[in-house]
Amino acid sequence: MKNGIIIVGAGVIGCSIAYHLGRRGIGSQIIDKEGIADRASGKAWAFWEYPPAVCSTLDFVWNESVLPILSDPGFQDARSQMMEERQRMIDLHWLGFHRVSEAILELQERGGVDVGYRELPFTRIALSDDVEQIYREGLAAVRSAGYSEGDWLKQDDLSSMFPGISRQAKGGVIFPGFKVEPYRYTLCLAQAAEKTGCTIRSGEVVGFGSKGSRVCSVVLASGAEIEADQVVLATGPWTGSTTAWLGKELPVELHREQCIRIELPRPFPRYGIWTMKGAIVPDFDDRVILHSFQGWPDMVTDFDGSLTDDNKLSAIEMAAELFPDMEKGSVVEHRGDLECWAPVLRMQPALGRHPEWDNVYVASRLGTFGFALSLSVGEIMADLIARGGRVPYRVEKLLEFLAPAELKQDTN
Ligand SMILES: Cc1cc2nc3c(=O)[nH]c(=O)nc-3n(C[C@H](O)[C@H](O)[C@H](O)COP(=O)(O)OP(=O)(O)OC[C@H]3O[C@@H](n4cnc5c(N)ncnc54)[C@H](O)[C@@H]3O)c2cc1C
Repeated sequence: MKNGIIIVGAGVIGCSIAYHLGRRGIGSQIIDKEGIADRASGKAWAFWEYPPAVCSTLDFVWNESVLPILSDPGFQDARSQMMEERQRMIDLHWLGFHRVSEAILELQERGGVDVGYRELPFTRIALSDDVEQIYREGLAAVRSAGYSEGDWLKQDDLSSMFPGISRQAKGGVIFPGFKVEPYRYTLCLAQAAEKTGCTIRSGEVVGFGSKGSRVCSVVLASGAEIEADQVVLATGPWTGSTTAWLGKELPVELHREQCIRIELPRPFPRYGIWTMKGAIVPDFDDRVILHSFQGWPDMVTDFDGSLTDDNKLSAIEMAAELFPDMEKGSVVEHRGDLECWAPVLRMQPALGRHPEWDNVYVASRLGTFGFALSLSVGEIMADLIARGGRVPYRVEKLLEFLAPAELKQDTN
C-alpha cells in the first residue's frame, strides 16, 4: 500500500509533525506500537518557560544533585559545550514560545479538544542565601543578555503569592510560562492532523526496505510492509534502534522522569515553583504535580521505566518542607516514563534529514523539553519535509547545529 509520508511514533513530536504537515495540505500516516501519547508524551507536566530562563545558567543550578556532576573536572568540557548549545537552543525555543497562544487557539479549533492551556508563570525559590545569590546572578545574566521579562521576588512577595509558604523561602525569581494537559494536547494534534488527511495506525515498525539511498517501505512486526515516499523517525527513546536498522545508530541516553499528582483541600496558587529539591506544578484540574530531584538524573540502560516508591515519598517531603499543608494532600496518581537525552546528560535534540538516506528524517532526543519544543519542532520538520529535505534559510544555521550528524557512526 502506498502512503506517502510515514511518521513512526505517535508521541507529541510525531503528532506535531503530522499536524504541521496537515496545515500545509500534506497528508501523512502515523504508526505507533502503542497508542497516541502512551509513553512520556502522556505523562509530562507539559509546561514551557521563558526561553532565556530555561537556557541560561539558572538552569544549571536548579538541582543540587547536578552540582557535584558539574564540578567534576571530567565534566568541564561537556559543561562548556552545554553552555554553547543552550544559547542556540534559545532560538529553537523562541520559534514556538512566541506564537504559543495563537497556535493553541488554532490547534483547538482544528482538533476539537480543550488542551487545558493556560499561562503559568514559573518561580525559582531560594531556601538559602547561597542559592538566593545564584538566582540573583541568573536574573542579572538574563537581563544583561538583553531580555526584558522576569522579576525578583522578595520574601514578602512570596508570602502574599503563596499563603502558608515556609519562612525558609528567602526570595526568588519569576518568569513567564505556559502549560497544557499533555495527553489532550497530543490527542488534539493527532485529531487535527487526521482532519487534514493523516491516518493513524497501530503497529510496531521492525525494519525498512530500501532501494539505493532511499527507504521505500517500513516493515511491521505483523509482516505487513507499507510503501513510503518519506519516513520520519519520531521514536523518542527507541531512536537508537530505529536508526540502527538503517545502519547507523543515533547515540541516545534514557532518563526516567517521574512525579506524583496530589489533591489538596484548597486550590494551589497558579504559579509553578522550582527549588533545588524539586518542582511544584499546579495542574489543569486544580490538582498539584510534585517532582523530587532526589536521585536525579536517573539514567537507565534497560528501558525500565517502572516507578519507584522512594521517588513518591521524596516528592511529598520536598513539597512539605516549603508548604507544611502539602502533607494533607492525597496522592491521586504516580506517573512517569522514559525521556530520550543526548549523551553526557545533554539536552540537544537531533533534528533533520538523515545524512545517508535521501528520504529519512529524524526528530528525537527532546529530553525534558518535548512539549516546550513541540511547536518549533513540528513547524521546522514539516517545512523541511515539504521542501524535500532542502533546509529553509530562516533556520539554516540552527538545523546545521541540530542535524543528526552523529549518525555517521557505523553500528557494525
Ligand atoms: C514526568 C515527565 C514530565 C515531563 N515534563 C515536561 C514538561 O513539563 N515540559 C516539556 O517540554 N517536556 C516534559 N517532559 C518531556 C516530554 O514528555 C518528552 O520530551 C516528550 O514527550 C517526547 O516526545 P516524543 O514524541 O519524542 O517521544 P515519546 O512520547 O516517547 O513517543 C515516542 C513514540 O514512539 C513509539 N515508537 C517507538 N519505537 C517504535 C517502533 N519501532 N514502532 C512503532 N512505534 C514506535 C512509542 O511507542 C512512543 O509512542 C516530561 C517527561 C516526563 C516523563
